[in-house]
Amino acid sequence: MPAVLGLEGSANKVGAGIVRDGRILSNRRETFVTPPGSGFAPGPTGRHHRRVLLDLISGALSDAGLGPRDLDAIAFTRGPGMGAPLAVVAVVARALAQLWELPLVGVNHCVGHIEMGRLLGEARDPVVLYVSGGNTQVLCFSRCRYRILGETLDLALGNCLDRYALQRPQPWLQHRAPGSQAVTPKLLESGEATAEDLCFSLQETAFAMVAEVAERALALAGAQELLLVGGVACNQRLQEMLRTMCSARGARLCPIDERYCVDNGAMIAQAGWEMLRVGQVTALSDSGVTQRYRTDEVEVTWRD
Ligand code: MG
Repeated sequence: MPAVLGLEGSANKVGAGIVRDGRILSNRRETFVTPPGSGFAPGPTGRHHRRVLLDLISGALSDAGLGPRDLDAIAFTRGPGMGAPLAVVAVVARALAQLWELPLVGVNHCVGHIEMGRLLGEARDPVVLYVSGGNTQVLCFSRCRYRILGETLDLALGNCLDRYALQRPQPWLQHRAPGSQAVTPKLLESGEATAEDLCFSLQETAFAMVAEVAERALALAGAQELLLVGGVACNQRLQEMLRTMCSARGARLCPIDERYCVDNGAMIAQAGWEMLRVGQVTALSDSGVTQRYRTDEVEVTWRD
């Protein structure tokens, strides 16, 4: 019964979790919180992770009632994500793997979300909608890869909503859509719309767009299950829209567990457990992190 320690730290969350044969034994996490209205920069985020990661790991081991000798591998996020935070986690993973003489498993962050979703959502072969602060992708499994059917490359859905809500609509819209730069201030000045109206409208439109792409993907793949993963999966309005879309076409929206939608160590452990099972381990010399690591680069040999 292999037990895998998973370490995550690709953005402002840093976590350590342990999974053994489909059971989550522990899942510790800390978030780097910045003042309202400001984002998180790579340098300070990496320093935050460096301060807390060792305590998270010892906490995860004690929650699971395990010692280093009980572990069978150390999984860590190789990418995608922010450089400095990724590097901090990788350094710790490499050091512990050598110290404890354990194999290292480099995990794609997006694949971590999908494998955790598959475990908890009990989905056999779902279409996956992955929406978070850093990623927006619609995926399905085909010929040993999670194929990307649709994605955003400039701005992820979660980041879009955050920027719009936090930095006031006007500068962001002006920057993104020069042709419509006068619309938002005019609506606000004339009292035709409040800032809340505009935020709500953006959210409705953005969610409707991903719901439509997800529906097209379900039709294309002939799939009956939709798996929603990533931090934005916690949004109840998005869940409601997707549930309505799924039930209209006789499909099912897999259950969402908010504890594991947000970035966490257990999801990296779960993907690492699957990879270890098929011998997909990472050599020390090949364990560098990569900020751009596409979901469809990973050969998914643990599924048929
Ligand atoms: Mg994520």
